[in-house]
Formats: sequence, structure tokens, C-alpha cells
Amino acid sequence: MTLTAQAQEVLDDLLEGNRRFREGQPQTYSYSPQDLLAISRNQAPRAAIIACADSRVSPELIFDQPLGSIFASRVPGNVASDSAKWMLDIAVNEFHVPLVMVMGHTGCLAIGQLLDGDKGGAGGLHRFSVLSAVYRAKARRPDDLYLEAVEQNVQQTVEHLARDSYALRGSLLEGTTSIVGAVYEMETGLVYTLEPSLDVYGRF
Ligand SMILES: [Zn+2]
Repeated sequence: MTLTAQAQEVLDDLLEGNRRFREGQPQTYSYSPQDLLAISRNQAPRAAIIACADSRVSPELIFDQPLGSIFASRVPGNVASDSAKWMLDIAVNEFHVPLVMVMGHTGCLAIGQLLDGDKGGAGGLHRFSVLSAVYRAKARRPDDLYLEAVEQNVQQTVEHLARDSYALRGSLLEGTTSIVGAVYEMETGLVYTLEPSLDVYGRF
């Protein structure tokens, strides 16, 4: 599905911030006591981002955005967790965010462990979700299985959220919110978006 004009505008802003970040020229955000007081009284985030819990994958830093601009949920493997869905419901119903992004990243530990055949560890059903993305990736017989698994895992989370979040599905159908999948290339700092896997009705 294509992005709405408003979602595209937000995405362009994020990608512009990402360019500043990876060129080592981020805007310097500083907050006076008055600024913090004003921020504490209201928030109007423009994007909701589901990202990995990885310590190197902080959306505000990667997109060079100030406090109050990104509503986020971070969970290992950026899976469609219950808390991610709750976050989305709030982002869509309360803040009417135009853009939802699922952002995976290269070198994701949650995916690497499964590729290495590590069947142990915590994670429960979420771990099966990542495993399913690994199988999807293997079926495509890619040159770079790790990267393919990262991308398939993002697409899968997009699909799960569109399927399971009533708030998101409703706003996708109304055309008030768009969802996009993206990958953060940890080695270079670049964020790139993926081809959409949903149709105009939010179906996959
Ligand atoms: Zn990760």
C-alpha cells in the first residue's frame, strides 16, 4: 500500500534526520526547565515506531528527533508483542499518528541466535514468531540469509500488527494512518524502507 501524503511527509522528515545522524551532524536538542515543563504537559508524536530492544537501535537518535516526536515500543526482534499492540492502539486512537514504522536492524541478536540453531533461551511465543520469519527467509533462498531474515521479520510484524490491532486496521482502512517497514543498517547508520507487503486495504 502507498503512504498517505501526511505519512510520506513524516517519513521524509525521519529520513532527513537519519541523514543528519549518519553524517555526524545531528541537530543539538537541549531543553530548558521551561521547555521540559511545556513538554511534560502535552505530547503530539507524529510517528509510532516498533523497534528492537538492542542498545544500539534508539529511534530518537537514529532519526535525530526531539523529545515528544516518537511514540515507541521496543522489544527483542521487533515482534508484534502485546505491548507493541497496546502502544499502537494509544498512538492511533489518542494521538492519530499518520505514520507507523516497524524497524528491524542488521546484526539482530534475536534473529542471529535462531540462525545459529540456538533453540534455548527465553522469549516464548515471540521466539516462534521470529523463527517463522527465519523460515520465510530460507524459503526464498537468498544470498544473504541473515539480512533476508531481518527483512522478512519486519514484513511479518507489519502483517501481524495490521491483522491484530483493531485501531491500526481501522485507520489503515480509513486512510488516516500508514504503516511502513524499515531496516536500520547498523554498520553505516542508514535506514532504508522495504517494499510494502500490504494492499490498499491493509491485507497481506
Ligand atoms: Zn535486534
